[in-house]
Amino acid sequence: MGAEGILVTGGAGYIGSHVVRQLGASGERVVTLDNLSRGFRDAVTYGPLVVGDTSDRELVRRVLREHSIGIVMHFAALTVVSESVADPLKYYSNNTAGTGTVLECCLAEGVDRFVFSSSAAVYGVPNGGIADEDTPTAPINPYGSSKLMSEWMLRDVSAASGLRHVALRYFNVGGSDPGGRIGQSTPQATLLTKVAAEHVVGKRPDVPIFGTDYPTPDGTGVRDYIHVEDVAAAHLAALAYLRAGRPSVTLNCGYGRGHSVREVLAAVGRAAGRPLVTREEARRPGDPPTLIARADRIRETLGWVPRYEGLDQLVRDALRWEHRLQAERPPI
Ligand code: UDP
Repeated sequence: MGAEGILVTGGAGYIGSHVVRQLGASGERVVTLDNLSRGFRDAVTYGPLVVGDTSDRELVRRVLREHSIGIVMHFAALTVVSESVADPLKYYSNNTAGTGTVLECCLAEGVDRFVFSSSAAVYGVPNGGIADEDTPTAPINPYGSSKLMSEWMLRDVSAASGLRHVALRYFNVGGSDPGGRIGQSTPQATLLTKVAAEHVVGKRPDVPIFGTDYPTPDGTGVRDYIHVEDVAAAHLAALAYLRAGRPSVTLNCGYGRGHSVREVLAAVGRAAGRPLVTREEARRPGDPPTLIARADRIRETLGWVPRYEGLDQLVRDALRWEHRLQAERPPI
């Protein structure tokens, strides 16, 4: 079958589909496993799509075997914080137990390299709003806990076996493929850049600003927004790192720079050519005032160089995709 295959679980989802596209474009043999509960068939632009669940041991083992998989990139997960608070077991089952099953299958089939989608949610509310990889982890919702528990499993499995891994803790991912081929299609999105883009195309009457009394320069929450294309590129860098035989590592994936909600909405307004209609709301429970990555380690370790820093490109790409979604899949 030639070169080793790369299995991308959740490859029909938002971040996974961007990684599949970059892997495919760089000549890798990529296979997607996705149950399509939140993903989209047409988001998979390279390689076969196997429709199925990470909890299905037989299926996962068969896919690893039949496609000669050498490396797994594990994205399949539920990602809505409020949903995780309302239904924690769904998150522990799908995200944590799901990771356990995929790891079990890797060990059984001799797959010894693993890239894991983790999240800045593992930090909770870090002191000073800036987190490096040694900042104590203290998630404040089941989504963050489900990711941290997966990290722990990965750490322990790597210590006990020949498996090596890279865990990437994403900060606030936004934007879409600058080529306009894929983007974020998630229905009922809660992420700020997606919500703002939906407002611009007329799907929402306004954009809520959750909290205007934070101890930040303009009173609104500050986050480290990172372009999905740079996040995807970090996975290709992680692949090269693991292929070079380097040791397991956990890395922040952010730019190390914060923007407030108002700054993001102003950038969306610039891209849209008109200011947005906003609505000031109370703070959203569990939101830290500020969450920014200390992001030196990923650059040093993986040699990752971001190409899309800056809010303007991120929101332009998010908007372009939202316009396309609106044209192709108008609300019923
Ligand atoms: N936010 C907002 N309105 C929205 C969605 C988010 O004001 O409709 C704020 C939120 O309070 C936080 C920032 O935008 O300060 C980023 O939130 P998001 O849900 O995008 O990501 P999170 O940081 O919660 O993972």
